[in-house]
Amino acid sequence: MTIQWFPGHMAKAIRLIKEKQNQIDIILEILDARIPLSSRNPVLDELFSDKPRLLLFNKEDLSDRFITNKWLAYFKAKNIEAISINALSGKEAHKIERAVKKVIADKDKKSIKCVVFGIPNVGKSSLINCLIGKKKVLVGDKPGVTKKENWVTVGKNLILLDTPGILWPKFKNLNIGYNLAVTNCIKEQRYDVDQVATYLCNFLIKTSPLAIKSRFKIEDNEKNPVKIFEKIAQNRGCYISGNELDYDRVYDLFLREFRSGKLGKISLETP
Ligand code: GDP
Repeated sequence: MTIQWFPGHMAKAIRLIKEKQNQIDIILEILDARIPLSSRNPVLDELFSDKPRLLLFNKEDLSDRFITNKWLAYFKAKNIEAISINALSGKEAHKIERAVKKVIADKDKKSIKCVVFGIPNVGKSSLINCLIGKKKVLVGDKPGVTKKENWVTVGKNLILLDTPGILWPKFKNLNIGYNLAVTNCIKEQRYDVDQVATYLCNFLIKTSPLAIKSRFKIEDNEKNPVKIFEKIAQNRGCYISGNELDYDRVYDLFLREFRSGKLGKISLETP
């Protein structure tokens, strides 16, 4: 699978990071709880190795709780503070503030300056909205950011840069690319939907076969993705004309229903 790379955007993000470096007390690095490794970007480590950091595993409502707990323990063992959150819940501000206090050296510091970093679609704007408590920042499926840069007071002691830092995902191997595509962190025009749907189907056949069976009402123990897609097309009435099956619609609904949690709470990476 080929996924296009964005050197120009990456350079811009790095510039922003460098400009803000001296003002920032702590980085809130937001990751997707289903893919905590694939959604990390090594550039942040290189540029900010000396900055306090809190990892926020977002979209915990879509991840497997047992595996997410294992990830939290995994990072704790490496002395990296991490908590899991649901940025859409609107209720995470206190939890985040407590965790921030744990990380920074000066526990009595007032006005702790934070910035949110993460790859596209991981939930940066939703998190900022959740912390600010109002719909102030643009949320969407595109990597959109507000134009002005403002510091906003949040809760008792946090001051948040309301423009998130966008990091571009790095595809060190093919699986990372697939994980990012499955979780919608890469624009659909940049990959082959059939390959990504097939990757997800193979993954689910191995790890959560019941999720496929029960969601798509497939009776037997089918292990061939092509046959599974065929059955989904028949069950859901996806036809182009006559008896010809519309596979594009099947790939689309398969990925969409996974992404929205309809197949269950499923993590794609385990520690
Ligand atoms: P950004 O590009 O990083 O700013 O991401 P957004 O905040 O725009 O979120 C991308 C998509 O993920 C939107 O459709 C959000 O509604 C959704 N989203 C964000 N946080 C969560 C979460 O915790 N749980 C779920 N289920 N969806 C979320």
